[in-house]
Amino acid sequence: MREPLLYRSTRGGHHAARINEVIAAGLAPDGGLYVPEALPRLDPANFDPHGALADTAVTLLTPFFAGNALADALPDICHEALNFEVPLRPLPQRRSATMLELFHGPSAAFKDVGARFLAACFRRLRPPGAPPLTMLVATSGDTGAAVAAAFHRQPGVRVVILYPDGRVSPRQAHQLGCFGDNVQALRVAGSFDDCQRMVKSALNDEALQAQVPLSSANSISLGRLLPQMSYYAHSALGWWRRQRTPLSFIVPTGNLGNALACVWVREMGLPIGEIHLACNANLTVPDYFAGDPYLPRPAIATLANAMDVGAPSNFERLRWTFPYDAELRAELHASSVDDDGIAETIVRHARNHHELLCPHTATAMHVLDGLPEDDSAWAVVATAHPAKFETVLEPLLGFAPEVPPALAAMLERRATAEPLAAEDEVFKGWLRGRVAA
Ligand SMILES: *Cc1c(COP(=O)(O)O)cnc(C)c1O
Repeated sequence: MREPLLYRSTRGGHHAARINEVIAAGLAPDGGLYVPEALPRLDPANFDPHGALADTAVTLLTPFFAGNALADALPDICHEALNFEVPLRPLPQRRSATMLELFHGPSAAFKDVGARFLAACFRRLRPPGAPPLTMLVATSGDTGAAVAAAFHRQPGVRVVILYPDGRVSPRQAHQLGCFGDNVQALRVAGSFDDCQRMVKSALNDEALQAQVPLSSANSISLGRLLPQMSYYAHSALGWWRRQRTPLSFIVPTGNLGNALACVWVREMGLPIGEIHLACNANLTVPDYFAGDPYLPRPAIATLANAMDVGAPSNFERLRWTFPYDAELRAELHASSVDDDGIAETIVRHARNHHELLCPHTATAMHVLDGLPEDDSAWAVVATAHPAKFETVLEPLLGFAPEVPPALAAMLERRATAEPLAAEDEVFKGWLRGRVAA
């Protein structure tokens, strides 16, 4: 067995954890985020040129699971979780431009990748007879649906979803509330940042944890971040084999989980060129990259609601990856587009190219449209299916996007969500009450 790779907290805690503990816990005991002691390095030649996405994932993630009890199950976990297409589709209107479509999973957003991987790990992590585990999910829309779909009816796991009431699209809200069984949705009278804080405060409460074993399925969980690396590796390696040039990515960015996965793949030595963070009118990240100090602030509501984040948690991991501001700013680009720009991009691409974009994907497309057309190869990362955001698209376009079958099936079910105040103690009380009940 190889030397195990150990994990530490971004807050410098001394406790070194193993990957099964990291995945089970979600958050490090000191409130920081788990990171590997060092990022493994791989060579493109390590990967099977004819492998599917799941095969790329196995090669990519094996070093992260080295020496761990979960290592033997990794091939099965990857094949169970990554069982849908993640195509890199050429964009006809521009030379060497592509779209990496991450929305062909059960909930029609890229969050399916991480959620399904996490669920597949938990199926193997839970000791027989263990008390039920409650997975907490703060969501600005898509995470909750993906986690609910991935864990729905999984024995020994309950899912509690917190979402900001009125700040997710009606279809997203429906998706969150339609599962039932072991899934409970709470609509919180506050912002996504409130939901995220409530989850963190519950996870950090040891007394509560003793009564109600908790874990988290947020993008702070490494068990979601790691599998997201596979589609960057897979698409960049495929491009590299055909074109012998690195592929650059434009990533719609909110909590920085998807973008960080891309950064780590490049740090591991795979052929990724530039990485551009496409943000909405929440300026925490773009202002930092423009040279301002890092200043978290309250989130503001935009058309790209899954990116309405003012205090992106994965910034801690980005800082761990590049400890110096100057270095970090040199590694990435970031820009912002407001709602007018998002709307204009959606309308222009529908009219000129018959291409429907969800509002998040539109932020990345807006960046591409502003780049000079040179020899660089760019992939616009498409994070959700446009049909999830019909309330944005229909008024702009005059028609509603066609609904993919998996989403249609969810929308036929009845949906319910309980209201909750945006207060840590109220939430903790709710959790205790649930267990007593
Ligand atoms: C979550 C989400 C994002 C933002 O991803 P982060 O990992 O939080 O940066 C972008 N687009 C969609 C559709 C999402 O659901």
